[in-house]
Amino acid sequence: MKCPHCQSQKTIKNGKHHHQDGKAMQNYLCKGCGKRYSERIGTPMSRLRTPASVVSLALKMRSEGMGIRASGRVLEKSHVSIMRWEQKLATQSQQWSPDAPAGGDITVEGDEVYTRVGENLPPLRVKRMDSDIH
Ligand SMILES: [Zn+2]
Repeated sequence: MKCPHCQSQKTIKNGKHHHQDGKAMQNYLCKGCGKRYSERIGTPMSRLRTPASVVSLALKMRSEGMGIRASGRVLEKSHVSIMRWEQKLATQSQQWSPDAPAGGDITVEGDEVYTRVGENLPPLRVKRMDSDIH
């Protein structure tokens, strides 16, 4: 557990305490900067990843004829996520061939629009410093 203040790895566990919401927090003491901090226990480090079991359940629901929004509501996932999983699996596996969703049912909500900015910039040209010396 790296220190959030100085990024030092020299941290020690320093007891636990419980929040009012019942979640346990692990306290840490940083030996690098002497600061204390705490980390919520039991919370995944990355909340972006969805367990494969949830993905396969979603695809199973879809293959059983459930609507994409209904599947999303049951799994508490956005229907946009489910669409992405379908597309991803459609390209990865020839066996998975989802039926085309009914036209007009799909809208992309503003906060879920997937944007990729600046990924196609050309690599920086590296100057040869010594070639300018005469
Ligand atoms: Zn520190």
